[in-house]
Amino acid sequence: MSTRRTVDKAKNAGAEAAELVKPAAHGYEFGGPIGAALISFGLPIACYAFAFLCNDVTGCPAPSLLSPRKLFNAPLLSTQSGWQHARGVLAREVGWPGWTGLVTVEGVLGSLAWYGWSLALYAMLPAEEVEGTELRTGGRLKYRFNSFISACLTLFILAAGSFALGPEFQVWTFINRNYIQILTTNIVISYALATYVYLRSFTVKQGNAERRELAAGGHSGNIIYDWYIGRELNPRVTIPYFGEIDIKSFMEVRPGLLGWLVLDLAFMARQYGSYGYITDSMLMVTIAQGIYAMDCFYNESSILTQMDLTTDGFGFMLAFGDLVWVPFIYSLQARYLSVHPVILGPWYSFAILAIAGFGYYVFRASNSEKNTVRTDPNNPSVAHLKYITTHTGSKLLITGWWGRARHINYLGDWFMSWSYCLPTLLSGYRIVDSVLTPGSRLVTRDGMEGAAIPVTYFFMLYFGVLLLHRERRDELKCRRKYGKDWEDYCKKVPYRIIPGIY
Ligand code: NDP
Repeated sequence: MSTRRTVDKAKNAGAEAAELVKPAAHGYEFGGPIGAALISFGLPIACYAFAFLCNDVTGCPAPSLLSPRKLFNAPLLSTQSGWQHARGVLAREVGWPGWTGLVTVEGVLGSLAWYGWSLALYAMLPAEEVEGTELRTGGRLKYRFNSFISACLTLFILAAGSFALGPEFQVWTFINRNYIQILTTNIVISYALATYVYLRSFTVKQGNAERRELAAGGHSGNIIYDWYIGRELNPRVTIPYFGEIDIKSFMEVRPGLLGWLVLDLAFMARQYGSYGYITDSMLMVTIAQGIYAMDCFYNESSILTQMDLTTDGFGFMLAFGDLVWVPFIYSLQARYLSVHPVILGPWYSFAILAIAGFGYYVFRASNSEKNTVRTDPNNPSVAHLKYITTHTGSKLLITGWWGRARHINYLGDWFMSWSYCLPTLLSGYRIVDSVLTPGSRLVTRDGMEGAAIPVTYFFMLYFGVLLLHRERRDELKCRRKYGKDWEDYCKKVPYRIIPGIY
């Protein structure tokens, strides 16, 4: 009898340990496998669509998009079908380089050099060693953070190069010449990385010394879904000379986020090279986005408590988001302004600055407040705040920023996104032959006002949807984690994002 009980006990302990490394899977998100497949193959196409349809060859958007019928109505060569003709016209209007032109050796080598540079700075510059949050399997992982100093050094070198060579500095000309090819390389890298971490996740073993574990939402058994959402929680790899790299935190903060800022600066250099001046709109976009990125580098350790680090596995969703979506989609406004300069004037600039300042204040104050309460609860700046203590021991603030709405930080973040888009005003331009100077081309807004709004204001809309969806995901996570305590918290703080409204 007692032997049987011991066996049962051992079985239970084994099952518990297995549950920790491979926790019970929960339901699908993002529309399940079909949603994951559509996102994984649709978003790269969306990136190319933005890159080609808003261009420096014929306009933003390409003229035929405004009157698609003309594409088919034009006289055809006897050997052409209507579709072939339309494809040919569109290909000329967008500067289509052909399938093989989407990738070049130069583009690949330049992109890989950027990853190499990021790795070298990560490994060689002094860093802060920080412990992550408590893992489900017990213990904490160590992280190495030095993205702020890495960004400062990179920006210093870029500033020195620009000072010496102006807009002809090779980094800027390389980026502007190879934009599409750099985009392709990063898309390929994100697919390859997602596949690598997916396959490697099958080597996660119970009770492993490296503290590897699977993400709760990442092992449904459906290959596409798990590959997309991320199967392993904290995949790490050891690279000779560079040491151990935490893939998720590295990709989250380094190549893509700093890459976004570098793309903005390349577009600024291009505007200067083309027009001989930099507009207030370009400065506004680059400074607002620069502050956002530098803030993230400066507060790098605060990513440790974010959902991406604590809950989501690393799969295509984060790989593509970090390496492609953030740098290439978030920089669309600066790219637009590099071809079509917009002058705002002092009043409009001031209004946009006020929106950016307000958004940043709410974003930073709320995120810092939560971070301080979690890491240094006796700090006088948060000692007066009220909270409920949950059964897990975690504290949920019910006064201060987090007493106003359950994700007030998202509201600040969304306001900041306005300041990235508004400087493009009623966007739209076309590129025509100059009548006065034969052989040269002119960028004009005539008849195009507002036509490029779907491109330059896309970010505000997309980001709003992302934050609404993210709030629901986080809510679900907290409800699972805190149960009744979360319900009590929701009664005390009824609004989700906008106090008094939503
Ligand atoms: P948050 O910083 O909003 O943190 C949510 C977590 O905070 C919850 O899961 C819970 O974690 C804890 N929490 C919830 N309510 C309370 C409370 N009342 N008191 C104390 N702790 C609480 O998570 P995100 O990772 O979503 O966002 C971080 C920042 O990053 C945001 O400002 C967001 O806007 C930004 N962001 C930017 C993106 C971009 O592309 N630019 C994309 C995504 C996010 P616990 O389990 O520890 O209790």
